[in-house]
Amino acid sequence: MSTTAGAPVALLGGTFDPVHYGHIRPAIELLEGLGLSELRLVPGRVPPHRPQPRLDAQTRTHLLHLAVANIPGLVVDERELQRAGPSYTSDTLQGLRRELGPERPLCFAMGSDAFRSLPHWHRWQTLAEQAHLVVTTRGGDSGEPLSPELAEWLAPRQVQSAQALRSTPAGRVLFHPVSRLEISATGVRRLMAQGRSARGLMPDPVWEAMADAGLYGYPQQ
Ligand code: ATP
Repeated sequence: MSTTAGAPVALLGGTFDPVHYGHIRPAIELLEGLGLSELRLVPGRVPPHRPQPRLDAQTRTHLLHLAVANIPGLVVDERELQRAGPSYTSDTLQGLRRELGPERPLCFAMGSDAFRSLPHWHRWQTLAEQAHLVVTTRGGDSGEPLSPELAEWLAPRQVQSAQALRSTPAGRVLFHPVSRLEISATGVRRLMAQGRSARGLMPDPVWEAMADAGLYGYPQQ
């Protein structure tokens, strides 16, 4: 994969409570599939749309650093943890856009379920002013129709190839397939609360740090 100065940068937000291969594998597929120079995993401190995470932000971020330590192109971006108040994507994209300058293609990756709920997000129509949206699709997605408002917004912005994201810094929407791994943070937390191993569902250093610290109710070693 080439990493030219003008290659797109992408963000993948999440709670990462904890990080697992269901995050890492799609991130690597986006990195390669979109020809990104880097993909930034952005842990949220106070996700506005979700119940509060079980682990504090510092621990979730530490685990993320362990997860990506040996994976070229994956980076942990802590900007949402440094800001007071809720983690709004519009603020995150604005901050990164300022750093990258006006020309560099920037992509914000989100799952198709999240995309369907986009009109409920804070200042959603401004997101595409700062970045392209890459909607990750997986076999088994519900395929529910988009709201008429979102479908109308999407029509003039949708593109069919990753190449189209390179010629302009923001404003396009690409649906991009990624692997679906049957792993969720909810499932990892449940296993550990039952005292069962979650090894193999995330990089070993992440599992070992969680087991050593007795996180999520796992019996401390
Ligand atoms: P939880 O089980 O606590 O809801 P989660 O495992 O879904 O968490 P998030 O931190 O909410 O993890 O996910 C961050 C991003 O990773 C989201 O865009 C989500 O769609 C994606 N993602 C999570 N799990 C998978 C998976 N197994 N395969 C592909 N993408 C995933």
